[in-house]
Amino acid sequence: MQVPPFDLTEQLHQLGEALEDAVLQVLRSGQYIGGATIASFEQQFAEAVGTAHAIGCNSGTDALVLALRGLGIGEGDEVITSSFSFFATAEAISAVGAKPVFVDVEESTYLIDLGRIEAAITPATKAVMPVHLFGRPVDMERLGAIAAAHDLLVIEDCAQATGTSWAGRPVGSWGDAGCFSFFPTKNLGGAGDGGAVTCRDQKLAARIRELAVHGMPRRYLHTSLGYNSRLDAMQAAVLSVKLPHLPEWVERRRQLASTYSTELAGLQGLVLPEAGPSGHSWNQFVVRIPRCPSAQAGCGGVCVPSSDSATYGLPESCCRDWLKQALAEAGVNTIIYYPIPIHRQPAYADLGYRPGSLPITERLTAEVLSLPIFPELSAAKQQRVVEVVRQLAGTKAALAI
Ligand SMILES: *Cc1c(COP(=O)(O)O)cnc(C)c1O
Repeated sequence: MQVPPFDLTEQLHQLGEALEDAVLQVLRSGQYIGGATIASFEQQFAEAVGTAHAIGCNSGTDALVLALRGLGIGEGDEVITSSFSFFATAEAISAVGAKPVFVDVEESTYLIDLGRIEAAITPATKAVMPVHLFGRPVDMERLGAIAAAHDLLVIEDCAQATGTSWAGRPVGSWGDAGCFSFFPTKNLGGAGDGGAVTCRDQKLAARIRELAVHGMPRRYLHTSLGYNSRLDAMQAAVLSVKLPHLPEWVERRRQLASTYSTELAGLQGLVLPEAGPSGHSWNQFVVRIPRCPSAQAGCGGVCVPSSDSATYGLPESCCRDWLKQALAEAGVNTIIYYPIPIHRQPAYADLGYRPGSLPITERLTAEVLSLPIFPELSAAKQQRVVEVVRQLAGTKAALAI
């Protein structure tokens, strides 16, 4: 039995006809850019997030860029965020001319360490960009209080967290702006690229809408240098069919996460992710393998340095790499989110972060492994994952040092 990290076939089987009808309707309408299908999805999405406005755009990356630009962040400004994220988080900050300033994460949550934000604030700091990584919400009450005390804007990176909430309120409704991705593997995925910005403020919404269409408040009048970044009608049609299913999909992710947590509990050396407060949407189920498996079960305690750790000055990842390889040989396919932290990427060499400057982030990149989790993952396939992980552990204690 092969278990993939992500698979759309079952969802296509369930929704195939509705999706095909929706796409054909757009195709036959001839209205591909702008129009009622998009406006209607934007309204549905704003309602789901609980904001007055949602503006569709090309991608989650563009959503971040548009939100930053819309809020007036640019050259000379600093934005505090986390380096344990997908590259686009920081790339968007740089794209508007601002500088990403990375704060280390908490080991137990994988999220920005709120206790370290104040030390990173300088007179140039304009905003903080929390990332609800893997679908786990950042404590938005505490973050909001820090931001308010220092007069900082808050731009939420909700790319992995559609359907996530903090204290019962959806993410994307807490900050000045929320940025979502509809990349196919996200909680709400389109049939291609897509994204959206959510916000409360009407003026900000109008500014973002203009920026997304060449800085053009009305036809052929350009008041700013913008982008060509629109959500197209085909994607809006697909997303409108899928959005009503989001709550049940998130619920299924929660069940899968809970099953993993129960069935894999007690394997020493395998650290399970915390569920945290309610509201986690489990876009990923990310375990950690901090130590070498025992001699009989694993790499024999002989660490062969990976080329990444040598090249990018990162901690040894051989224990995790061994488990990943062994799982793959047994048909269980996993992914590493993310093997190299943003601050150690060659593209950011000029920011001057040395090895060890964000020690928890760096260690996590050497230890994390994402087990298969998606709403259509069958109970049988999940049991197979559990069985193989347990087998590789040999006995319950085999992963222990
Ligand atoms: C996916 C992702 C993005 C970018 O979204 P795209 O739609 O792929 O451009 C940004 N931030 C995070 C944390 C992501 O996971």
